[in-house]
Amino acid sequence: MTARYLPMLAASAPAPFSSNDWLFEIKWDGVRAIASVGTSLSLRSRNDVELADRFPELAELLALAPGTGSPPVTYIVFDILERNGKSLTGLPLTERPDILKAAVREGPHVVLSVPVAGQGEDYYRAAVAQGLEGVMAKRRDSHYEPGLRSGAWLKIKAQKSCDCVIAGYTAGQGGRGPVFGALLLALYDKGVLIPVGKVGTGFSDQLLADLMATFAPLVTSVPQVQGVAGRVTWLQPVLVCEVAYQEVTRDRKLRIPRFLRLRTDKPATDCTLDQLTGPHLAHKEHQPPPVPTTLPEPAKTLPGAPAPQPTLRKYHEKRNFSVTSEPEGATTMSGNSFVIQEHHASHLHYDFRLERDGVLKSWAVPKGVPEIPGEKHLAVAVEDHPLDYGTFAGEIPKGQYGAGTVSIWDSGTYDTKHWDDGKIEVTLRGNRLNGPYVLVKFNRAGKNNWLLFRAA
Ligand code: MN
Repeated sequence: MTARYLPMLAASAPAPFSSNDWLFEIKWDGVRAIASVGTSLSLRSRNDVELADRFPELAELLALAPGTGSPPVTYIVFDILERNGKSLTGLPLTERPDILKAAVREGPHVVLSVPVAGQGEDYYRAAVAQGLEGVMAKRRDSHYEPGLRSGAWLKIKAQKSCDCVIAGYTAGQGGRGPVFGALLLALYDKGVLIPVGKVGTGFSDQLLADLMATFAPLVTSVPQVQGVAGRVTWLQPVLVCEVAYQEVTRDRKLRIPRFLRLRTDKPATDCTLDQLTGPHLAHKEHQPPPVPTTLPEPAKTLPGAPAPQPTLRKYHEKRNFSVTSEPEGATTMSGNSFVIQEHHASHLHYDFRLERDGVLKSWAVPKGVPEIPGEKHLAVAVEDHPLDYGTFAGEIPKGQYGAGTVSIWDSGTYDTKHWDDGKIEVTLRGNRLNGPYVLVKFNRAGKNNWLLFRAA
């Protein structure tokens, strides 16, 4: 295998749910690694450290033949990203398990993870009853998105936990005099480390001593975060630990934190504030993705009609489907499609739509999508539209929202290079437009305003 893949990342869901659009599997507690099996075995951790030497028993992945002895570690294989040099990341999730089963046999140290469909709540209860951490939910139609946290994968955990950077420690008191009292925890927010509390429980005596030895070469006189009172021994921000907590306070501190483990497989820079799913977080952009159980009642449901996506509520509120021929919203997925519709409403504009999370993310672009690199056009984010709007062309009746004529100006597929709340980079492959495009949020001009341009 030649390609190097970044692991796809999971967002957090606040509660278990059941949905036929999702597959569920056990969330295992351990080290995540991507195995490359060729003439030799490579096992790369999330922070790109080679682990093959550390787990020699996993050499059986090479032969896929039974080994001997007791199994100190087990490699749980839950996905396949490449086979015979051909990338499989563009295939929908539901197609990869069959390829995986054909490619990998189980051995004493190698186990395949088999997802279940739909019954997420039952599965979650069963997992937690067995003392497991929780479950993973993966959207059936999703592709493997290396390095992205798109919301297509969700972790649902019995216990809230958070991976934090260890920014320093306070001195121990009494019996803990020779070691630290508490670890100073920090998370990255837009590239800046901010303190999120201190953890002083969950350590064995041995762990306390081991951690002190680990800390010694990392001590620095440079304060790593602002706004921490009292004496702190600062550490270079390279160590990551997982901490359980009850809730997040209003000022973004972990309440009742307890140390769980050091995480050597995760880079400190991945420890971001968006892990905290507290009910009253100040940051609007860091809200957890919507959970697909609480679908709003559609205004008027035909028997057997599919339930709409939760993010389509605004779309439904604005339209009377007994009058307009615009689609109500089918839930069939068509892949990474995009469409640009020419819309002769009260003002001519172009609607730019990208398929994402089961809906069409949409922008109204008054001047159309620029074709010359460097030319920037205003794009106003509007409500999500259903996927089948992508093939809609026709007349929206007078008096209805967006009354006028809609025709398809361009359509095709696209690849995502980057997607976050403030910036989207895609490559369009349409009949008219072909090439890299960028959408950047333009906050000064209002919260829904973006700039759309063609990258050079
Ligand atoms: Mn429009």
